[in-house]
Amino acid sequence: MNHDRSRALYDRALSVLAGGVNSSVRATMPYPFFISRGDGAHVVDADGNRYIDYVMGYGPLLYGHDVPEPVQAAIQSHASAGPMYGAPTEIEVDHAEFVARHVPSVEMIRFVNSGTEATVSAVRLARGYTDRDKIVVMQGGYHGAQESTLVEGTPENPHPSTAGIPESFAQYTIPVPFNDEAAIREIFEKHGAEIAGVLVEPILANMGIVMPVDGYHETLRELCDDHGALLIFDEVITGFRVGGLGCAQSKFGVTPDLTTFGKIIGGGFPVGAIGGRAEIIEHFTPSGDVFQSGTFSGHPVTMAAGLAYLEYAAEHDVYEHINTLGDRLRRGISDIVADQAPEYTVVGTDSMFKTIFTREGPDDRDGHCAAGCTQNPECPRYGLCPKTGADVARTETDRWERIFWQEMKEQGIFLTANQFESQFVSYAHTAEDVDRTLEAYKEAI
Ligand SMILES: *Cc1c(COP(=O)(O)O)cnc(C)c1O
Repeated sequence: MNHDRSRALYDRALSVLAGGVNSSVRATMPYPFFISRGDGAHVVDADGNRYIDYVMGYGPLLYGHDVPEPVQAAIQSHASAGPMYGAPTEIEVDHAEFVARHVPSVEMIRFVNSGTEATVSAVRLARGYTDRDKIVVMQGGYHGAQESTLVEGTPENPHPSTAGIPESFAQYTIPVPFNDEAAIREIFEKHGAEIAGVLVEPILANMGIVMPVDGYHETLRELCDDHGALLIFDEVITGFRVGGLGCAQSKFGVTPDLTTFGKIIGGGFPVGAIGGRAEIIEHFTPSGDVFQSGTFSGHPVTMAAGLAYLEYAAEHDVYEHINTLGDRLRRGISDIVADQAPEYTVVGTDSMFKTIFTREGPDDRDGHCAAGCTQNPECPRYGLCPKTGADVARTETDRWERIFWQEMKEQGIFLTANQFESQFVSYAHTAEDVDRTLEAYKEAI
């Protein structure tokens, strides 16, 4: 594979963009390939190399790169009619009604422009609504590039996880290990009256993909109810992907007070949203006293694309297709791993997948979770598969980045470049794409 043009572009980019990119994860080693166009489930780079794409924009691209005709038409008509006004439009109401109709916990919604903005506003809303300051997050959870959640360490000793955030900000955030019931019970015992909310991805999707253990979300729900805190599901990745149109909360049967959305609901354009019970969402200005505002919020082109995306999914076999292929991919990788690297853990659900390069496997794989770890206590891997962000961080993360990802790239398979970020199957992928991908795994694992 020749990468001369990508290398030259990166050389130019390094002079005018910090690290040569506009989002850190894109700076793959030794230099990223620059995309010139998408084609169904594939992308073509600046040197004409073609890849089967499982990055899918890091989650938004439910249909791959060729959007269905009604989506294309909605984008074109709203772009040429505006594109935006700073005054309300009908399409915002249509989109909000769609989400409220399909996600049981959502009565009312506020659209914003990114997942980050959604979690920033949700945290502010939870604090304003409860008149409390502390937010509980999961160690290794990701909620965008925001001050309240870029926090690491232990509940007793939290620190900002990046330069540029005052040390004192971290005292309002309590990072706990995901899936650890005893830890969260202890936190509520000690700080229950100060906690505004628990902010949690229903599935850790930016940390290797870690599924919840049985009962964990129910425990969070119960503790929030008992202590007057809000349960906030960050469904920026899982929303309208896991559990279909009902989102992950319907798959798990747990009802959060607030939900943050992003990625898929903008149909490939920048978006975020905060949804929940009307009585809470109405605390946002102008109906309430929690300030929230945005020049581009509810952008008509984004709303049109997002709504057409979701309507198309409601009327076609989209989830059936992508979940079936996801299952085929995870089972195929499980078989390869059983032969070649029995210590590795295959994870994911619905159309999400990843292989975690864990360091230990069981002697016997009989009856293991072949279609991706479900945290089944009966599975022989149960004691060894990652339960927390820290478990994922302890795996062979360098091997993913420096060897495996590179080898897959050379074979024309575009995966997320580190051990932590999820990968996605789209409606454009075919069984043939999956089988070719499995051949590449066989070579690279
Ligand atoms: C991607 C993501 C975000 C941040 O969304 P941006 O649009 O990148 O700001 C927040 N939470 C989760 C769970 C995400 O996956």
